Amino acid sequence: MTHFPVEKIRLDFPILEEKIRNKPLVYLDNAASCQKPNAVIDTISHVYRHDYANVHRGVHTLSVRSTDKFESAREKIRAFINADSTKEIIITKGTTESINLVAQTYGKANLKPGDEILITAMEHHSNIVPWQMLCEQTGAILKVAPINQQGELIVTEFEKLLGDKTRLVAVVHMSNALGTINPVKNIIDLAHSRSIPVLLDGAQAIPHMAVDVQALDCDFYAFSGHKLYGPSGVGILYGKRALLEAMPPYQGGGDMIRKVTFEETEYNSLPYKFEAGTPSIADVIGLGAAIDYLNDIGMDAIAAYEAELLDYATEKARQIKGLRIIGEAAEKGAILSFVLDRIHPHDIGTMLDSLGVAIRAGHHCAMPVMDFYEVPATARASFAMYNTQQEIDVLMNGIESLIEVFG
Ligand code: PLP
Repeated sequence: MTHFPVEKIRLDFPILEEKIRNKPLVYLDNAASCQKPNAVIDTISHVYRHDYANVHRGVHTLSVRSTDKFESAREKIRAFINADSTKEIIITKGTTESINLVAQTYGKANLKPGDEILITAMEHHSNIVPWQMLCEQTGAILKVAPINQQGELIVTEFEKLLGDKTRLVAVVHMSNALGTINPVKNIIDLAHSRSIPVLLDGAQAIPHMAVDVQALDCDFYAFSGHKLYGPSGVGILYGKRALLEAMPPYQGGGDMIRKVTFEETEYNSLPYKFEAGTPSIADVIGLGAAIDYLNDIGMDAIAAYEAELLDYATEKARQIKGLRIIGEAAEKGAILSFVLDRIHPHDIGTMLDSLGVAIRAGHHCAMPVMDFYEVPATARASFAMYNTQQEIDVLMNGIESLIEVFG
């Protein structure tokens, strides 16, 4: 293994000290939500103890202080994904809200009956259902590009589905159910050569790799704070400025206005036009702290370490008789989905919990993926930068003993 300071990093995450059923916690449910370092916990606590007031509205010291910290977090987020301007960083509740925002503003304003939205067969429900709702509202049609048995997008089929009527492409950057990392640059280039904008669902990709929205040239990028070692309840929509300027607001209320009379309302400028109401102030500042923390370690170092963890886990899993890996794309992030002969994933999850191992069992909000593989559910171990090979050994030994007893 290359040198990665995993033992030092683990000390920054107090929850990793927990015992579950008298066993050391082995937390492998990071794709659902990952744990928080002291840097984030302490920052949020500090905000509430020393800095807290509502943002953007006050002249008093605390309001100015909160606003400064809040806006400085926005700048950290901008730099983290290399957006051109903080005007392109819209604060939302999470990936789900970011995608719904685009569907209900850009989508409603630009789609008419017969127009098409193109997604892939490996999307999370939050990159399917908002488009289905939009189709119901506008008469547009949802098209789905197929995947192969390895869980990879069939790019030639995707390309065939890009037509005169395609108005938007919405694709997951990294699949939560399979781990597949999509060839997003290629996808964007293919769509842009036909002047079709592209939204990337970055919920899973963002904690695992450096993301540069200008290099990708994506039109929208959505992600959640809680999967990026930050707090829940806060997420981001990146959008290219020209697109955001032209889009109508999402929700109406405070902060998103410049002037209101009963006859007429003038909307605020970007990014506030899309940020109605009081945001999750301390959590946004906490997300800024998570980004500082990640920058200190380095996203490329994290990606390299997690690739080694995944290789190690995959190799071990392949040696277990009766275990089938679901999702074996050549380009894959740190997710291992699997099923076992004759043992339901929920039972795998429950029995591993008795060993202190937290994995997820279910459809992972990707029911069409389960249908494709003809399984009701999978068990999913998802790794983060604080996981170790020893923890993977605990998981694999647990699976083997399970097979011995029940298989
Ligand atoms: N997209 C993907 C690929 C995800 O994995 C998730 C969450 O698991 C989401 C979207 C939704 O994220 P959130 O629930 O934080 O809005």
